[in-house]
Amino acid sequence: MVSRVIPVEPFDLVIFGGTGDLARRKILPGLHRRFLAGQVTAEARIIGAARSQMDDAGYRKMVRAAIHEFGAPEDQDKAGIDAFLEILRYVPIDARGENGWQELAAHVRPGLVHAYYFSVGPGLFGDLAERLHSHGIADENSRIVVEKPFGHDLESARALNATLAEHFRECQIYRIDHYLGKETVQNLMAVRFANILFEPLWNAQYVDHIQITVAVTVGVGGRGAYYDKSGAMRDMVQNHLMQLLCLIAMEPPSRFDPDAVRDEKLKVIRALEPVDPHHIVRGQYAASGEEPGYREDVGDPRSLTESFIALRCHISNWRWAGTPFYLRTGKKLKARSSEIAVVFKDAPHAIFGQDAGQHRNILSIQLQPNEGMMLDVTIKEPGPGGMRLIDVPLDMTFAEALGEEIEDVPDAYERLIMDVIRGNQTLFMRGDEVEAAWAWTDPIIEGWEARGDVPKPYDVGSTGPEDALMMLHRDGRRWREIK
Ligand code: NAD
Repeated sequence: MVSRVIPVEPFDLVIFGGTGDLARRKILPGLHRRFLAGQVTAEARIIGAARSQMDDAGYRKMVRAAIHEFGAPEDQDKAGIDAFLEILRYVPIDARGENGWQELAAHVRPGLVHAYYFSVGPGLFGDLAERLHSHGIADENSRIVVEKPFGHDLESARALNATLAEHFRECQIYRIDHYLGKETVQNLMAVRFANILFEPLWNAQYVDHIQITVAVTVGVGGRGAYYDKSGAMRDMVQNHLMQLLCLIAMEPPSRFDPDAVRDEKLKVIRALEPVDPHHIVRGQYAASGEEPGYREDVGDPRSLTESFIALRCHISNWRWAGTPFYLRTGKKLKARSSEIAVVFKDAPHAIFGQDAGQHRNILSIQLQPNEGMMLDVTIKEPGPGGMRLIDVPLDMTFAEALGEEIEDVPDAYERLIMDVIRGNQTLFMRGDEVEAAWAWTDPIIEGWEARGDVPKPYDVGSTGPEDALMMLHRDGRRWREIK
């Protein structure tokens, strides 16, 4: 099988914040890869727009360096980079003032798809939206891409939605959550909704529980000031983990179209029960030896912000009544690993003398560091030892079966930017979804703030605070290993 790349139509993409970290690390190397794959053609134009004063040549030099630093080793061919740089332009712009806007207007070609990527701090989203309109740059068919964080709580998210809605319709707004752009996340939908095998078992009757873990080994890095005002709940759970939860738990949409899918995700968020404070464990990585702790990293010796959170939540609907969903995310943990695990119940009757919980079917969807999908099935251990059971993983990524087909797997940002150009919002969050997620998150945060809850310390390189282990232990369950 040979992979098919269908070029997207010619477009103008303006990257506000085109000199920033995200643009250099993800957006521009990603566009370069799509260019090499033939999906972005030489007719496209990518316009960096940011505060720094530089010309096209200076910008191209910066982007070349970014591709060298952050692009894949196989994408470093000079001719390919040169050709890509040809489609780049740069306009110095002030989001809060008038400088640069006329020049930008002159760069945007009439009659093409226009996309504006807001890769700047959220404080500038409103300014950009307003100026795109007042300078007559955006039209009915323009799209805007907005980065996280989308609000800090329900009130700020509502205000942001309202500001954007003054200038753009919902069908023009692409709220990006790069977890949704991952190949495996989409494969999860295919596995669920294109097979008859899983859906009959996908409910409280057959699923014991579901775990979603997003663990990283890094600390807050240079983002300490931002992170300390946010914490793991706002930075990770409200968006990424919640989106994964929705895809796992939603009802089959009637068709694979943006609103049908997002309607179902919204229903899941709205059906989430408030979380009992006893089912939340917050943690902060502690200093050890030379290694600074969270409080040193953010420069606040009294910070009460969590760098780790584990919680148990429930979805009150017919499908999931009584099934716990355990969510866990944290920094400076043992390994970088993101996984969704659907843990099925025991077979109803043990004819091989197996103990309860000893052999279970587990569907594990790995998102990081390597994407993949495995189904643990119990079989007889081969050999003369009688009827001994072992669990073996069935690889459902089917990498070998598909051969060449999977050589060109776009990364999450690449796929999502191509979806923006194609005008497909399926993998982007709708305004009401984001608000519903905050409506569930806000009371949880308010609860621990009111109680003056102090996060539990945990060791760097561990799996989080002991209390998180105990939370599952009390339920007679165990966290999946972080490896
Ligand atoms: P950054 O600070 O590295 O870059 C900010 C960019 O905005 C620069 O290009 C700067 O010139 C431009 N800018 C700032 N003020 C401006 C103004 N008044 N007028 C015009 N341009 C202005 O930030 P970043 O890390 O690239 O993040 C950008 C956005 O993406 C933020 O909202 C961030 O939360 C989000 N985000 C970043 C990452 C990441 O990995 N860096 C990941 C997820 C989300």
